[in-house]
Amino acid sequence: TPSKEGKMFIKALFDYDPNEDKAIPCKEAGLAFKKGDILQIMSQDDATWWQAKREGDANPRAGLIPSKHFQERRLALRRPEVLVQPLNVSNRKSYAECGGISRGTDLAGFRRSFRLSRKDKKTNKSMYECKKSDQYDTADVPTYEEVTPYRRQTHEKYRLVVLVGPVGVGLNELKRKLLISDTQHYGVTVPHTTRPRRSQESDGVEYIFISKHLFETDVQNNKFIEYGEYKNNYYGTSIDSVRSVLAKNKVCLLDVQPHTVKHLRTLEFKPYVIFIKPPSIERLRETRKNAKIISSRDDQGAAKPFTEEDFQEMIKSAQIMESQYGHLFDKIIVNDDLTVAFNELKTTFDKLETDTHWVPVSWLH
Ligand code: 5GP
Repeated sequence: TPSKEGKMFIKALFDYDPNEDKAIPCKEAGLAFKKGDILQIMSQDDATWWQAKREGDANPRAGLIPSKHFQERRLALRRPEVLVQPLNVSNRKSYAECGGISRGTDLAGFRRSFRLSRKDKKTNKSMYECKKSDQYDTADVPTYEEVTPYRRQTHEKYRLVVLVGPVGVGLNELKRKLLISDTQHYGVTVPHTTRPRRSQESDGVEYIFISKHLFETDVQNNKFIEYGEYKNNYYGTSIDSVRSVLAKNKVCLLDVQPHTVKHLRTLEFKPYVIFIKPPSIERLRETRKNAKIISSRDDQGAAKPFTEEDFQEMIKSAQIMESQYGHLFDKIIVNDDLTVAFNELKTTFDKLETDTHWVPVSWLH
């Protein structure tokens, strides 16, 4: 089994094709992989090129992959905003030589490099001419993440399921379908609001009604996953509201903006992130012809028929989400036909409860 002592697995957070890598000593020796692939590390003897096998291949072949440090460094170089000044040719040479600093890193050293990212920053400070050490944040340069197999035990709480996707993609419809398919099993959070309770509403059902003062205090104390303002009132989803769904032994379904996901990636929530992706623009035109869109979360106005601009906006927004946060997605479901997408979602949930999944090692300590 993959959890055997001494074996080390990483999840690739970027796509890699050795044929397009000018730095690799021998292209044939390289191992191509895609974002999300699980790789077993066979050797880290070389500081720049590791040897790895892809997990799940029928005939896994060991090949060269760029080391974490090497990849981080060259990705950082492509991002001018983290550098005070671009490295000139002579600097570049010293940069290449820097690869030698961590030569001979053993597995323990690699593990340390994940946990002690502050130290990383310090080391990098000396390698790059960064203005401040914290301007170079390795967490913003997704390369690899050390992972381990995890299977939920029956006594454990369910993992938090986070749904992300562009406006109009059908995320709420899918969520609603899932909720009504088994109301005992699935739950959603109750948001907080500062607006007055309406007569037909009860506290703790539609909303948790609180004062503006308390809301502001809670914001300062980081109690919210997200919040917003609408017609002079605050609305927000608290971390405790997620906890209370999980405490009822339910699967908590949460839809948030993708940038909030990184704050939820903790041992407590072990979030499983599902990206609901639009199909091609042609399919959107065909399938959403008679459908309506509620153009924004804060727009209570009546749903309107989709326009060509809505389709284009949806596709563009999905592309941005995928390129910026794709490394945090555990599953991508294309919502072309709603029934098909729903069945895929349902299967994903069933597997989540029974199968073994790869999770960051930091979640199991
Ligand atoms: P109402 O006051 O009519 O119940 O809702 C007003 C608006 O607040 C709606 O558009 C609703 O979607 C939005 N809203 C409800 N809950 C939340 C929340 O947790 N966060 C944010 N940002 N908006 C919310």
